[in-house]
Amino acid sequence: MRIDLHAHSNVSDGTETPEVLVESAAVAGLDAVALTDHDSTAGWKRAEHAATRLGVVFIPGMEVSCRTDAGISVHVLSYLHDPTHPGLLEEIEKSRSARLSRAQRMVELMSDDFPISWPLVQQFVTEGATVGRPHIADALVALGIVGTRSEAFERILTARSPYWVSHYAPHPAAAVGLIREAGGVPVFAHPSAFNRGRVVGGAVINEMIDAGLLGLEVDHRDNPEEAREDLRRLAREHDLLVTGSSDYHGSGKPNLLGENVTSQETLERIMQSATGTRVRGALS
Ligand code: AMP
Ligand code: FE
Ligand code: FE
Ligand code: ZN
Repeated sequence: MRIDLHAHSNVSDGTETPEVLVESAAVAGLDAVALTDHDSTAGWKRAEHAATRLGVVFIPGMEVSCRTDAGISVHVLSYLHDPTHPGLLEEIEKSRSARLSRAQRMVELMSDDFPISWPLVQQFVTEGATVGRPHIADALVALGIVGTRSEAFERILTARSPYWVSHYAPHPAAAVGLIREAGGVPVFAHPSAFNRGRVVGGAVINEMIDAGLLGLEVDHRDNPEEAREDLRRLAREHDLLVTGSSDYHGSGKPNLLGENVTSQETLERIMQSATGTRVRGALS
């Protein structure tokens, strides 16, 4: 089976609807795909319908934005948690509203130097979607200031830029604990993504493991090859699952569905560890 456990729809910062995302997964020859929008499960129902229609196995998921005390951004993937769990819901609602006011503030700062405005950025945010810098990047592309989202991130939206504003996010160990409480399976997303900024060291990873972390997303294009061996060793040491995924964002990123995949055995272990909700469709 070809299984991709990390993809975004326009419920967050992907460019495709949940239905089209599942269609793209079928076209890419995937047997199973997880929808892991940032801090939202609003796309699950729609993805599930499309998956049933197309005979693709659908794994409900989410990617929780977190930050350490030192200000390092960490993403934690959650699979098969209960989407109504009050503690986890409250935490992602806090993040989502913080991301909204933070994005507005960044646009305000940028408007001194660029002809950008909040109403323009809003045109790139689907109703109810989790707002992020990718949507500001879309506005910069539309204005012709940059050619692509990636260029916008490199030139204008990095954490080192004068327009950068930080926002509330839970500590990764707290998020891991909440995901477990909600019956989900927490997996550390792209743990060695040095290209995105600073990454956490052993101390934070150990805190996450103590809080109940169950896996590491090792095969991801943002983890350099050299770092993957260390991650695999860490996984063996702590009996953590090893996943591989694309982190597809539609046309918003070069990442292609199925460019990294996860074994069926690992997906089965994820299913055995989860009590929050179930996979839609049967593994053959
Ligand atoms: P934010 O939540 O506003 O901090 O934005 C982070 C999101 O922006 C990530 O989840 C990525 O999907 C996206 N992102 C980060 N770096 C890049 C990049 N170089 N090019 C395009 N999208 C990016
Ligand atoms: Fe994203
Ligand atoms: Fe991520
Ligand atoms: Zn992602």
